[in-house]
Amino acid sequence: MTEPFRKTVLIVIDGLRPDAITPGGMPILHEIFARGWRAGRALTVRPSVTVAALTSLASGVGPTRHGMTEARLLHLPRLRHLRPLPAELRRLAVETTVITPALPGAARWMAGALLRLGGVTRLIADASAPTALFGAAAKRLTGNGRPELVVVYANDADLAGHAWGWMSPAYLRAAQAVDRGLAHILPFIDDPETLVITTADHGGGGVLPDDHDHPHPVNERIPLVLAGGRVTAGTGREEQAIHLLDIPPTVLHGFGGTAPRSWEGRVIHEAFSMELSTV
Ligand SMILES: [Zn+2]
Repeated sequence: MTEPFRKTVLIVIDGLRPDAITPGGMPILHEIFARGWRAGRALTVRPSVTVAALTSLASGVGPTRHGMTEARLLHLPRLRHLRPLPAELRRLAVETTVITPALPGAARWMAGALLRLGGVTRLIADASAPTALFGAAAKRLTGNGRPELVVVYANDADLAGHAWGWMSPAYLRAAQAVDRGLAHILPFIDDPETLVITTADHGGGGVLPDDHDHPHPVNERIPLVLAGGRVTAGTGREEQAIHLLDIPPTVLHGFGGTAPRSWEGRVIHEAFSMELSTV
């Protein structure tokens, strides 16, 4: 048995396909993959769209339960019956910080209100480039000793995918820019008190070259790696797919909590070198 993590950083790179992570294209993320525990095969929710995937990460349940498959406020009442991850963390005195690129006034206000509903402690939404985004995350990870989940959301690759197509030169350049930002995170994979989880909400280019919402393996396959001082390096079995829904229970477990029974995923125990104690 071992102590819970002090910090966990969950990095969501919107629209990042696993095959974009090459030594030449994304050298830093490639290194994090080499030194961490990576899923042999990881899948996102269906439909493979951002609002559905992010709501699943926040709530522990799939789109059929949370109903958020498009960015409308229609399904908000349903969200009140869920047990969001930040609220579960708050019961363990763990804060949640969400860091996003700069949002225009109204969107920032709405995101802030939505996140507060789910128990998020603070929203930092002023970064203009991935280096600033991940720099802000590094500051949270070193800034205080309190237990904290830091969620970083980078949308550069998705924007380029919609404009120029998935795996196009512009898309790969956007992925490269995100990778340069990850230099701020790299030192933390040696810290035994920090857990670093990097994933994506969906792929893209499976059916339409510049979209990702149709059911297709290329749209639904996502990269997923766990790293940090207490993670065992290795690769999960290809035949046992890890699901995006396995992330919330794993994060909660890392802070010593136990997932609500309504959550759909499972803790990725095989990524850790020793069993964590739960409260
Ligand atoms: Zn998109």
